[in-house]
Amino acid sequence: MKQRILIIGAGFAGMWSALSAIRLLDQHQRLDVSVTLLAPQAELRVRPRFYETDLTTTVAPLGPLFDAVGVNFVQGCATRIDAAGKRVIYRETGGAQAELSYDRLILASGSQVARPPLAGIDRFAFDVDSFESAQKLEAHLQSLRDKPASQARNTVVVVGGGFTGIETATEMPARLRAILGDEADVRVIVVDMGKQVGSAMGEQIASVIAEASDTLGVTWKLGSPVSMVDEQGVQLDDGERIEASTVVWTVGVKASPLTQQIDGERDAFGRLHVDRNLKVLGQDSIYATGDTAYAAVDELGNHALMTCQHAIALGRSSGNNAAADLLGVEAIPYSQPKYVTCLDLGAWGAVFTEGWERKVLLTGQEGKAIKTEINTKWIYPPEAKRDVALAAADPLIPVVA
Ligand SMILES: Cc1cc2nc3c(=O)[nH]c(=O)nc-3n(C[C@H](O)[C@H](O)[C@H](O)COP(=O)(O)OP(=O)(O)OC[C@H]3O[C@@H](n4cnc5c(N)ncnc54)[C@H](O)[C@@H]3O)c2cc1C
Repeated sequence: MKQRILIIGAGFAGMWSALSAIRLLDQHQRLDVSVTLLAPQAELRVRPRFYETDLTTTVAPLGPLFDAVGVNFVQGCATRIDAAGKRVIYRETGGAQAELSYDRLILASGSQVARPPLAGIDRFAFDVDSFESAQKLEAHLQSLRDKPASQARNTVVVVGGGFTGIETATEMPARLRAILGDEADVRVIVVDMGKQVGSAMGEQIASVIAEASDTLGVTWKLGSPVSMVDEQGVQLDDGERIEASTVVWTVGVKASPLTQQIDGERDAFGRLHVDRNLKVLGQDSIYATGDTAYAAVDELGNHALMTCQHAIALGRSSGNNAAADLLGVEAIPYSQPKYVTCLDLGAWGAVFTEGWERKVLLTGQEGKAIKTEINTKWIYPPEAKRDVALAAADPLIPVVA
């Protein structure tokens, strides 16, 4: 009987898992093992671009690629993982329940922004976490054009001064002016718990973030958390109120809730602890990858971050290793010692850093050129040609951004 590798999720990790599993099966001419991928859409949704205005090119179709390499795509949303019975229960698009069995499961269901139970947050705060929420934010910003001018209308509060918050905030002056006019007195305020601008990103990069913020007119309110969000703005813990028609929540991220259904140790983000081959510790047949995996990247104690840089390499490893396990051939341990950061800073440019301490290498328009390459080319799916796509899925190809 045919054996099945089942992958949940069509993000960076899921797509590359599918390609690398098929690559290895191909090399061993094993037509008796199939690769099935379950996800709500056969699309790679390029989350790193959801802070941008134009979302039209942030979704890449995967149907032709899956057809070219022979991935069986099943449209649906996994609701339950039955590890003992080796099956996944899912909801079809029409709402009916169905199930898929597996011999090896790869959990690649990603992550989502973690909204705390704060008054008004669900009704009034936007985010840039998903395609739908990014579209909702853009539609709201466009609607400001028809509102009477006021300080609140012209103000965007971005809650959180981490990676996503900084990219969202530094893009916002240009986004607002494109809608409200070049002369509009726009205000963009980052509310962050840190003591210094950009401190969440580390000392070396913080001064670059401060310079870009100054140039763009993005201001920071430091040291006090938001205690409430309403239609007219935010209330801070220290008593200050900021009037704003737009509040974007970027603080915190948590792994897909499906991780909770698998017995195993989890980190503070809910990611499953995995071994060097990305198999979930304590499980025989389940791998975790991308944002669902707490994986060591080197022998020095560093771990993968929830980034597509890591998700791409993790995906190539998990697919290869799940297939290797079924075939009884040697796995290739996941290793990704090189880490870089490329942070978009709106019209100011971008900053490119290397290493875990984020040594600054390129800034301004030089950094922006790399960011544009990453965001428009490097992280997109390979061409829908079998040989090209499978060659690109080699787990030994280093991912450098
Ligand atoms: C605004 C923003 C900016 C970012 N910027 C950067 C950056 O500059 N650099 C960088 O490296 N990273 C960045 N990231 C992080 C990066 O996007 C994630 O780390 C990456 O998407 C993780 O890939 P993944 O494949 O694990 O999960 P995802 O890309 O989240 O994909 C998860 C997949 O699983 C599917 N899925 C979820 N639940 C189910 C279910 N129940 N059943 C079936 N399928 C399911 C989803 O539909 C999706 O197909 C950014 C993220 C955001 C939101």
